[in-house]
Amino acid sequence: MWASTSRRSPLSGSRWSRPLSTDTAAADRRRGCRIGISGRSPRADRGVPIALVPVKAVIIGAGMGGASAAIALKQLGLEVEVYEQVTENKPVGAAISVWSNGVRCLNHLGLEEETAALGGIVDSMSYVDAFTGETMCRFSMQPLIDEVGQRPYPIARAELQLMLMNAFGHDDINFGKKMVAVHDGPAQATVEFADGTSASGDIVIGADGAKSLTRDYVLGSPVERRYAGYVNFNGLVPVDERIGPATEWTTYVGDSRRVSVMPVAGNRFYFFFDVPMPEGVPFERGTAREVLAEEFAAWAPGVHTLIGALEPGATNRVEIYDTDPFHTWVRGRVAVLGDAAHNTTPDIGQGGCSAMEDAVALQFAFRDNPDDPHAALAAYEASRTERAADLVLRARKRCDVTHGKEPEKTAAWYEELRHEDGTNVIRGIVGNIVGGPLTA
Ligand SMILES: Cc1cc2nc3c(=O)[nH]c(=O)nc-3n(C[C@H](O)[C@H](O)[C@H](O)COP(=O)(O)OP(=O)(O)OC[C@H]3O[C@@H](n4cnc5c(N)ncnc54)[C@H](O)[C@@H]3O)c2cc1C
Repeated sequence: MWASTSRRSPLSGSRWSRPLSTDTAAADRRRGCRIGISGRSPRADRGVPIALVPVKAVIIGAGMGGASAAIALKQLGLEVEVYEQVTENKPVGAAISVWSNGVRCLNHLGLEEETAALGGIVDSMSYVDAFTGETMCRFSMQPLIDEVGQRPYPIARAELQLMLMNAFGHDDINFGKKMVAVHDGPAQATVEFADGTSASGDIVIGADGAKSLTRDYVLGSPVERRYAGYVNFNGLVPVDERIGPATEWTTYVGDSRRVSVMPVAGNRFYFFFDVPMPEGVPFERGTAREVLAEEFAAWAPGVHTLIGALEPGATNRVEIYDTDPFHTWVRGRVAVLGDAAHNTTPDIGQGGCSAMEDAVALQFAFRDNPDDPHAALAAYEASRTERAADLVLRARKRCDVTHGKEPEKTAAWYEELRHEDGTNVIRGIVGNIVGGPLTA
């Protein structure tokens, strides 16, 4: 589609209509602009007036995937509109670990200082016996940082989300817009909203999360999500060394469960409890302390200190799902990104990082194919599906070992941890980190 010549440039704020030299044409192409002229074919060499028209992207969802993609495409010079169904920034979940591959993506989006300011400092990791409180192993994170060249950062979700929204332009996000339909067309793709309005663009990026409507459209049928067999309780508490050292990621393990704390900025621990149980067990919000005290009655004192410190009303409880990997991410001008494309269990902390990788890969695809949205989306899909599938399956495998799908494997893992010097754990984490657009 060659859009009208009256759009405003996201780079200059002024209307683009000027003679074009070959040099500027190349530079504009790199920025994701297409060259249009009313009634005649573009002839830059003749020096005729030409209107430069950025590709227009409509992004559905302002979670960490959609917001990262919005920044990435805007950085390239595309015109970006973001639509989000909620009316305010209220992420579900307390924090996430942004591993070095995710941090690299945030740095690439121009957020290096902000990310470091929000990130907790994790200097070491330890595993602790659930019942005795004895340290099974403790090791430095420095070898990992040295190997991949970037420190990972646990970050409170609301703060990460706000950072991304502010970087794009919080006031430019269209909140309270629930997409109810999406369809492709020969010149544009269009989304329809519950309030009866619609939006069209050269492309639509569905970053609409694990229950994605865009995914249903792209695949032509709904996808079954797979219950992973456990529930995750999570929240934030003040750092307390009786639970774990202030700069350590401490994980208590036993009985196919785990309880973890890791630091985020502001002298807080992000904590989570994993509890294997059937799908659909009823839970009343506000009762987390009683439920966890009962579930973890026989656990070490540090776990009880944590249960005593948590705020029941602010503790989240999430049933954990994933989806089998699929390799069709694009239908015409419509593509999926983030959890919509690769809903992942949190067992290797890579779902959000993978969404950020998608955003950077999408930017690279448009940088390399600025004049052709179809080619750009095909390049995006080709660069991402295998990598994302690998992370989904790695997480699933880790999930099964951690949560006792085959109890003898879980017991063998506990035994390994008693002899671990960090080498094997760090090798596994590095294996997750490498392979993205900035960690090839
Ligand atoms: C317990 C838990 C712990 C995790 N820990 C980590 C971790 O440590 N590290 C890590 O990297 N990842 C982690 N993850 C995964 C991470 O949270 C997700 O991968 C990430 O949030 C995906 O981002 P997203 O933007 O794709 O989707 P979401 O964050 O789900 O955002 C989707 C957005 O789209 C909006 N939306 C949905 N439908 C519509 C619609 N129809 N119209 C308009 N808007 C719509 C939603 O309101 C939402 O804002 C964890 C996940 C869980 C559950």
